[in-house]
Amino acid sequence: MSGTARYKRVLLKISGEALMGGRDYGLDPEIVNRVADEVRSVTRMGVQVCLVIGGGNIFRGVSGAAAGMERATADYMGMLATVINALAMQSALERIGVDTRVQSAIPMSTVCEPYIRRRASRHMEKGRVVIFAAGTGNPFFTTDTAAALRASEMGCNALIKGTKVDGVYSADPKKHPDAERYERLTYLEVLSRDLQVMDAAAISLARENKIPILVTSIHDAGSFAEVMAGRGRFTIITDEE
Ligand code: UDP
Repeated sequence: MSGTARYKRVLLKISGEALMGGRDYGLDPEIVNRVADEVRSVTRMGVQVCLVIGGGNIFRGVSGAAAGMERATADYMGMLATVINALAMQSALERIGVDTRVQSAIPMSTVCEPYIRRRASRHMEKGRVVIFAAGTGNPFFTTDTAAALRASEMGCNALIKGTKVDGVYSADPKKHPDAERYERLTYLEVLSRDLQVMDAAAISLARENKIPILVTSIHDAGSFAEVMAGRGRFTIITDEE
């Protein structure tokens, strides 16, 4: 699809779990390819795009810690999982002709670039999609927080959170069919109602830096581009009542 984009530069956050599709573990190539297609259509609208991809489809620090592992070590394993996902997404994007760079918060120079803010910004100006891997590079954080952090650093005009559903609900709509769907929310409402959109650190960071969060489904074809054009189904989180 085409249309005029409302945003010049955006960050798309996709959880590892969303890339799993119907599987119990790992990546569903069909979903990875579909997300890559969505990203390409948005870059064709002239929007500069960067990505943060989670790692929950491979490893989560809290699960490792629950199994008796030291939490920080388990979190580093989780961050490495995000690098695997980032490389898969890079491969899917390059196959369809989108130039990309992966930048890791944990330097891994034989695999990808280290995270360098100004360099990432330059890549985006040149139309390359930058995929930020290894979260924030610190244990005890999440890739949601990494998404809010990178969106702030890169001066993004919006943070898009791609989920399994078409917005924010009062409860999981898959388990509670009568859950209320919100069109718009404030950051404070998300925090005070403990709505499970992104963790509190991520919401607070987006709030401080006035970055709107748009929550949409990655399973509806064309939704990312629709949201960029101000159409489609999404929940927007800002400071405005
Ligand atoms: N992680 C971390 N620091 C970060 C980002 C991620 O320690 O800045 C670890 C953490 O263990 C987390 C795992 O990486 O459980 C995978 O990331 P996340 O759970 O955020 O992935 P998602 O839920 O988005 O798939």
